[in-house]
Amino acid sequence: MTQTSLKISADFDSGNIEVIDASNPSRTILAIRPDTRSPHFQWFHFKVENLHVGHAHAFSLNNAGQSSYSRAWSGYNVVASYDHEHWFRVPTTYDGAALDFSIEPTEPQVYFAYFEPYSRVRHDRLIEQAINKAGLELIATGKSIEGRDVQLLRRGDGNASKRNIWIIAQQHPGEHMAEWFMEGLIERLQDVADPVMAQLLSVANLYLVPHMNPDGSFHGHLRTNAMGKDLNRAWQDSTEALSPEVFFVRQQMEQYGVDLFLDVHGDEEIPYIFAAACEGNPGYTPHQQQLEEHFRRRLSEITRDFQSRYGYPRARPGHANMDLACNSTGERYKCLALTLEMPFKDNDDAPDALTGWSGKRSKQLAKDVLTTIAEMIPVLR
Ligand code: ZN
Repeated sequence: MTQTSLKISADFDSGNIEVIDASNPSRTILAIRPDTRSPHFQWFHFKVENLHVGHAHAFSLNNAGQSSYSRAWSGYNVVASYDHEHWFRVPTTYDGAALDFSIEPTEPQVYFAYFEPYSRVRHDRLIEQAINKAGLELIATGKSIEGRDVQLLRRGDGNASKRNIWIIAQQHPGEHMAEWFMEGLIERLQDVADPVMAQLLSVANLYLVPHMNPDGSFHGHLRTNAMGKDLNRAWQDSTEALSPEVFFVRQQMEQYGVDLFLDVHGDEEIPYIFAAACEGNPGYTPHQQQLEEHFRRRLSEITRDFQSRYGYPRARPGHANMDLACNSTGERYKCLALTLEMPFKDNDDAPDALTGWSGKRSKQLAKDVLTTIAEMIPVLR
């Protein structure tokens, strides 16, 4: 059998791969490229062309064992798509050093990624949809290091008698499920016949930052912005020079106030959806504790895609990392402040072998979170 060589590319939005050895089209050796000015790496996203339809093609990421969260590869399956629209999981194994996966393609070209990517083109459409169809207003635009827009949207008139709900997403640029979540939020806000949203909006202003780290995502980073800064470790000392994305949002929060803060992320290792809170803050209040328990209990009643058995170890009193958005904001505003984590793998309480955790499921979770928030408005202050 003559074999044409595979064409492998990652020179596009959120692309990340290095070709180590593509001389054997049935087994290609690849590596993940680190973030700019940072040793972090885990996110990958690339396209393969000239595949032999119906033949097995294997790929090996040979530096997976040195990635930021090497334990995360156990129980993980790579996502693939022929059209960059419909994504499915492919068989994947991890031997402690390399991540190996394979496909018998039905098309001559395929995309692979760490998770279903949320593109910058889709982001731009989402902002338009939010403004033109979901009644949101673009009230301020920050700039990333490289000059990309960081939009702050608001639904509500900003009246000070209302509760101010802040939801931000994708500080960590490789956590693409976070902007899928924001798309779900905006989709629900579009439904004018939704009585829960009508009630919520009569008593609350919603402030949304759909994407905190556009440079990092564009460059295919896992963790950092274009200066190599982890934005969710920059909330104490954010600067315009190193972390203008956080600097901007903190300024806007000061201007409008915060009664509830949700920071949306993805977790590489844990196959469940959970919320981390600010129990380790020096000024942690009993009211904050009640609100955290209320949120966790209610959301887990509404959906199997949330639980509170599994998550991060709780911080000891007074030992919180105050550089985190959740802790910093909870301390400053003495409000309910949570980091919401979705899996890269799957929800082991409700697994889906075809897709694992996905963009679609992230969107549905957002709609259920809105129900929980709507119910909690009377007790927030
Ligand atoms: Zn994160």
